Amino acid sequence: MSAGAGPAHPLLDRVDESAVMAALADMVAIQSVNPFDEEASPGHREQEMADYLCDRMEALGMAVERRDIAAGRPNVCGRLAGSGAGPSFMLAGHMDTVGVEGYDDAFVPRVEDGKLYGRGACDMKAALAAYLEVVRVLHESGTELVGDLMIGAVADEEHTMIGSKDWVPNWPRADAGLIGEPTELAICPAHKGQTCMLIRTFGKAVHSSMPELGENAIVRMARVIAAFDDYGDELKTREAHPLCGHGRFSPGVIQGGTISSAVPDFCELEVDRRMVPGETEDQIIAEYRARLDRLAETDPGFRYEIAGPTIGVGPLDIAPDDGLVQALARACEQVTGAPPPITAFPGGTDAPNMGFPCVICGPGALAQAHTVNEFVETRQLADAARIYLLAALALTGTA
Ligand SMILES: [Zn+2]
Repeated sequence: MSAGAGPAHPLLDRVDESAVMAALADMVAIQSVNPFDEEASPGHREQEMADYLCDRMEALGMAVERRDIAAGRPNVCGRLAGSGAGPSFMLAGHMDTVGVEGYDDAFVPRVEDGKLYGRGACDMKAALAAYLEVVRVLHESGTELVGDLMIGAVADEEHTMIGSKDWVPNWPRADAGLIGEPTELAICPAHKGQTCMLIRTFGKAVHSSMPELGENAIVRMARVIAAFDDYGDELKTREAHPLCGHGRFSPGVIQGGTISSAVPDFCELEVDRRMVPGETEDQIIAEYRARLDRLAETDPGFRYEIAGPTIGVGPLDIAPDDGLVQALARACEQVTGAPPPITAFPGGTDAPNMGFPCVICGPGALAQAHTVNEFVETRQLADAARIYLLAALALTGTA
């Protein structure tokens, strides 16, 4: 408790670290690896996580909605109804995790040195466990909320975000929300977007004993790559977003040719562009075209295609002085005793898809997410539950 932050809220004492840890251990043991491009199957889908969350939320007095977005891949939403006289607030997050190749005992939760280990421990079952603890405290203390408190859990964040992309048309809207992706409890009201596109070049296939008769699509792609050489530097000359800085560009995957004894007639390059708030996909395609069109001036046979996006995640941009950010910052300070850092989240999240203002703030560090040694510090996990509790009270107009 920091000096000047006022007396601690009486409900804070009810947050039980062992209860949050038990819920997290339960969820780490539930395999919910994203199936990516494979068919969903037991262990590689969100269904069992949804079963667990729905059971827990119903037992805590929430009205629960659940629907499959794809087979075995549900979204769920629990609602703890308030009196209706205040704003609604949603604690949201994803139920899937990345894969576990090379990860021994990924689904055997283990507590050691004040850390809970296992796949999903920080990304982001920790936050889901903290959300349940908030509702447990409110339910068991008989607290009457003014506005509704919701828990929204989505499928497929780690791949194409089918869960959150379904949110706006089919799921409840809140006045404000929070997504507990791992930030070590920093508040992240902004992040870059990501758009991945395919650039294709074409040629004329001939036997490679007579390459002069053909046109080589791979050689053309080499010119394309060279044409984008200074693009990243050019992005850095543009005006920086106060939290997100500058856009980024990176060629990621290349494929072309089938056999070395033939001149390839096709090459495809997948490029990753991180866009700052304000940039749009159309604008980025126009920038690509401007660079590619110049190549035709020296190579009359040059032809290209831009396809995609193969990945499209919007940027997030909520002002640091927004009431949601400020309420959350006050909650963080009350719990940790220090004002939280307010910064950009390094990656993309479901937040821009939800259709209402959502900021990112969660336990655990992105440095451990997606590794074969994922963990969350149990003290940070309990602090997250306390912060979310205070935020839920404030942002439903309850206290
Ligand atoms: Zn995540």
